Amino acid sequence: MRFTLHKPTNLTPIPIDCGACNKCCKGNTLVVITENDRQDFYVTQTYKLPDGRVVEALQFQANGDCFYLIDGKCSIHGEHPLVCQAFNCMAEFCHYSRQERRLLIKQGMLSADVLDEGRKRLQQK
Ligand code: SF4
Ligand code: SF4
Repeated sequence: MRFTLHKPTNLTPIPIDCGACNKCCKGNTLVVITENDRQDFYVTQTYKLPDGRVVEALQFQANGDCFYLIDGKCSIHGEHPLVCQAFNCMAEFCHYSRQERRLLIKQGMLSADVLDEGRKRLQQK
């Protein structure tokens, strides 16, 4: 299975109006549970990243959607992990150079779909 890593540039929430978009809740995107999350609240699993690191992250459904994505919506909104609360695809797009984005997508560490969403939203601003 190929993973991408849900990886905000920091854990300070940057507001974004996602509307009906849920691209970063799909595609085997790893949501890593941090030490500041409620450890016993989430359904998690241990995963090995393409770079060899081992992390505890939310489980997936069989289709690669997040365990908590139900009927296209986050079923634990308000209680979703800090990584989800802080994630902003526009900030993620800006954080990397074009070369870094290409490399990280190839390595399975970033999602092309999510970066495309970030690019699109930046162009609409
Ligand atoms: S990809 Fe961007 S707009 Fe879509 S849900 Fe994620 S953060 Fe929101
Ligand atoms: S916990 Fe909610 S916001 Fe986070 S990836 Fe899963 S469905 Fe999306």
